[in-house]
Amino acid sequence: MSRKAAKKTKPSRPRAARKPAGASAPSGIRLPMLGDPHDIHIAREIERKVLEAKRIVVLGHERPDGDCVGSTVALGMALKALGRDVHVLLEPKLPVRFKYLFEPGEVRPKQKGQSTRRYPADLAIVLDTTDVDRISGLVPAQIAGITIVNIDHHMSNNNFGDLNWVDTSAAAAGELVYRLTSVLGWAVPPVALDALYTALVTDTGQFAYSNTTPRVLRMAAELLAAGVDGEELWRRLYLDKSRAELDLEARARTSLEVWANGQISCITLTQADFEKTGTGPQMTQEFPGIPRALAGSKLAVFFYAVNGGKDTKVSIRSVKELDACALAKRFGGGGHRQAAGCTIPLPMKEAKDLFRPAAEKMLKEHAALSTAGKSD
Ligand code: 5GP
Ligand code: MN
Repeated sequence: MSRKAAKKTKPSRPRAARKPAGASAPSGIRLPMLGDPHDIHIAREIERKVLEAKRIVVLGHERPDGDCVGSTVALGMALKALGRDVHVLLEPKLPVRFKYLFEPGEVRPKQKGQSTRRYPADLAIVLDTTDVDRISGLVPAQIAGITIVNIDHHMSNNNFGDLNWVDTSAAAAGELVYRLTSVLGWAVPPVALDALYTALVTDTGQFAYSNTTPRVLRMAAELLAAGVDGEELWRRLYLDKSRAELDLEARARTSLEVWANGQISCITLTQADFEKTGTGPQMTQEFPGIPRALAGSKLAVFFYAVNGGKDTKVSIRSVKELDACALAKRFGGGGHRQAAGCTIPLPMKEAKDLFRPAAEKMLKEHAALSTAGKSD
């Protein structure tokens, strides 16, 4: 029975039959190769590390998004299908809507700074993470003694691994996991196909952003052909909201303010907004799109309270002429050119007061440069 047909008879998703760890024949699908011909070189080096390792942990960044969860879970499952001893460790405040991607207990919750003694490993594969400080699950000191493989697609990645595969042309870390597994001929268990699709669909803004390359769409097509149910994943990712989430969204929309004659649009969620709606910062994945939708906005900013309001998280989105990553870097953050973020260790008002002049300055400099360009 096809996976889609199976789903209709059961309210919950059918799970792939799992082989126990150490099983010799890998279960799953070998995806067609769609990567770069040169992928094989780095892939073989990664494979060597994987085969040498006794125990592997797969890690992602704090405040995990769809790409982080999807890519770590997919790689973890592919490694398990290879018979490796592997744990995926992500922080416990994982958005609930990603939990369909794994069975309870499959992803181990790990607080930043907690002891890792329960999961001693000699290899850490870190996905979608710009630098060690952003790793959730293990603190840098605890991974200091073990081999680190860094697989990422962010321009601000600082090559922190012993082995680094940083490809900024990749739309998602999930794309790199697709390329890695397909070029090596590793089997990808069926539920990991959902994880890969989730990584691609979330990091490309549902196949809308400029990182939606022909290759990404080919990968998505292969995943659909292999049995992924795109509509079901879309419902799980973007619908199925609680009343509380919609109330939070309403607050976010009414908080809209504009700076720099409408060229900067911002929304703000305070600690009180989360408390009054009974929600939390992990329910805001799509919110940077709210200020971005305003006509005339070149820079969209979403400020939200984290750590009980002690710190402020800033999500930045920009038109392609502006470098959101450069702005985020001024506050110790990073990301991509058009989507970046940082955490300012100050409460909301102070953080916004600090951020606003830097954002306005960036727009002024850009305006000056484009005027100069026009008079040439
Ligand atoms: P978001 O605004 O959706 O949280 O993140 C947008 C992009 O910027 C993502 O690729 C994310 O990994 C990156 N990013 C967000 N916050 C930070 C941060 O504090 N530091 C770094 N280095 N990257 C960040
Ligand atoms: Mn990503």
